[in-house]
Parts: sequence; structure tokens; C-alpha cells
Amino acid sequence: MSARRRTGYVWHERYAWHDTGTHVGIFPAGGFNQPHMTFESAESKSRMAGLVEVSGMVDELVRVRPRMATREDLLRVHTAEHVDRIERESADRGGDGGDGFTPFGRGSYDIARLAAGGTIAAAEAVLTGDVDNAYALVRPPGHHARREMGMGYCIFSNVCVAIEYVRAHLGVRRVAIVDYDVHHGNGAESIFWDDPDILTVSLHQDRLFPQDTGAVTDTADGTNINVPLPAGSGNGAYLAAIERVAVPAVTAFAPEIVFVSSGFDPSPVDPLGCMTVTSGGFKDMAARLVELAENACGGRIVFSHEGGYSPVHVPFCGLAVLEALTGHDTGVVDPFGQSFDASPAHELQPWQDAVIAQAALIADALRL
Ligand SMILES: [Zn+2]
Repeated sequence: MSARRRTGYVWHERYAWHDTGTHVGIFPAGGFNQPHMTFESAESKSRMAGLVEVSGMVDELVRVRPRMATREDLLRVHTAEHVDRIERESADRGGDGGDGFTPFGRGSYDIARLAAGGTIAAAEAVLTGDVDNAYALVRPPGHHARREMGMGYCIFSNVCVAIEYVRAHLGVRRVAIVDYDVHHGNGAESIFWDDPDILTVSLHQDRLFPQDTGAVTDTADGTNINVPLPAGSGNGAYLAAIERVAVPAVTAFAPEIVFVSSGFDPSPVDPLGCMTVTSGGFKDMAARLVELAENACGGRIVFSHEGGYSPVHVPFCGLAVLEALTGHDTGVVDPFGQSFDASPAHELQPWQDAVIAQAALIADALRL
């Protein structure tokens, strides 16, 4: 029986109003590409918020009101050119975050600021002791955004903006980020590449997106760890990577707070990834990360929502993570659980083990 914790929860209906328009998943419609939705739509996030409510989980959480990150908050991380362009295009008809794959509509500047500000509010609630830990269900996501541009559906780096806020205002110095989104956390990596006080640990599918970042040998100044797991990895590989790489690295680094870039696109039914992590796998990872934070930094841990594009599976994965954060069991049964959990794909395979062993050796050699 795990202890009950006070868990902060951020969600705002306006996050669902971020308009990513009509695409063929990733690509513009036209020619032979029949118009359809963008993979990054409101669906998976809205439906997770819906399940949080209907399951009764919302009554176990402490609502944390998001606010808009100010221009000053954004400029601690992003260039003025990037911020100004997003503001200008958002006031008109919308545009693209910068890489051609990050569409946004009218008004998304304010929604992106509300996403970054939601993560700030969650971190503030944890650091002031209002709550023990927090989950910021924000949109648009942030972990691909670089200082000078958005990319991969991300406009501003929600986690990095929150980290710079708590460093500027709440006396925090050392921070660790653990990213289990199926894509590489390239944005946070690049933003803090030269910063010895920020440890980034990214678990991701090897060369999925971006395809030229996230190699196991990319260690920056010694505070950057990548675990590029082979396609097909399941619960066994992810839990081993958390246990053998993230836990010892974060423990040795001794941060004052841990941020988690929480993406549910390692799901077996995600349209953008080829991994097989189940809701039970996400719950086990989250529980281990909560335990890690309890041992490393008084339990201070903030999850900020990133990717995850299955509208039907993400809500159950998200609820499972909230169960791990709160210690409260809603009794909700993931309808996918039984068959997904029974898959043989969860056994740690030798080629997955080899990558984890290499990352663990590198992390150990960094002498954090
Ligand atoms: Zn992702």
C-alpha cells in the first residue's frame, strides 16, 4: 500500500483550442494527400482530462491554475526573434513554429504561453510546498522546441521555461529532466547543452525524431545522457533504462527538483512510434521516478505533458501515471491492458540490454 500524496494538476480547456489545422498527420494536404487531422490534435489530451474527471481522480488532485508565461519568462530560454514571430503570426492567421511541421492557428501564442505558464505554476506549487508533486497536462507540447525555433509540434519549451523561472525566482540551482516521450528530447538537450547544473536524461526510440540527434555518445559537458532504445522496446526495456540509467544518474547528480517530459507515444498504438509501453508500464516508470525524487530531492517532481497521439490509449496511460503520483487507485481498468500486457514484447531483449548497458557505463563515467 503506497502512501497518499498531494498531487497538483494543471489543465485548462483553452489547451484544447490550440488549432493545428488540417494535415495528413504530418504533411500538408493537397495533391494525393486527402485532408485529414494533424496527429497532434486536442483529442488525446481532452480525452485524458475527461477520464481524469469521470474516474473521480480529479477529486483526489489539487487543481493548480495555469497562468500565461510572460515575455520575460520566455526570453530566459527563447530568442526575441522567435517569440516575436510567433506573437505576430498568431495575431494574424497563425503559421508554423519554425520547422514546417509545427502548425498553429490564430491565438496560439497565448495558448503556448499558457502551456509554459502551466508548467511554471505546477513547479511553483511543488517548490512552495502547496503540493508534494504535480502533473501539468498542457498543450502544445515543448520538448523539441529550441531556443531559436519551434519544431515537432512544440512552440516554446514548457519545461525549460519553467526551470529558468524557478532558478530566477525560487532559488533553485540544480535540476534534472527525465524524458520518456518516444522522441528525443532534443530541445532541452540543446538549450542546456553547456549548463552543468541541468542534467538531461532522454529515453527515446533510436533515430525516430529528430533522426540526427539523441545518440548514446552525445554527452555534452557531462550532464546529458541519451538512451536510444531500438524500435520494438516494451515495458522491460523502459523500466531497465529507468532503473539502470536514470535512477543512478539523477541520484548522483543530486538535483533540487526533477522534471519529467511525459509523452505517451511509446504506446503500442501510437501512430508516430514503434514501441510497446502499456499503461501499466507507464505507471511503473512513474512510480519509480516518484520514489527516485523522494530519495533524491524530498519528492519534488513535476510531470509536464508532451506527446502521445492515440486518442483511445493516452487517457488510460495518463490516468495510470496520476495513480502513481497520488498513490490513489481509481479502480479504472484499461481495456487495452490485458492483451497489451500479455505481449511477449515486454521482455528485455539482448539488443535493448546492450544499449542500456552502454548508456549506464557512459552515465557512470560522467561522475555526476
Ligand atoms: Zn513525442
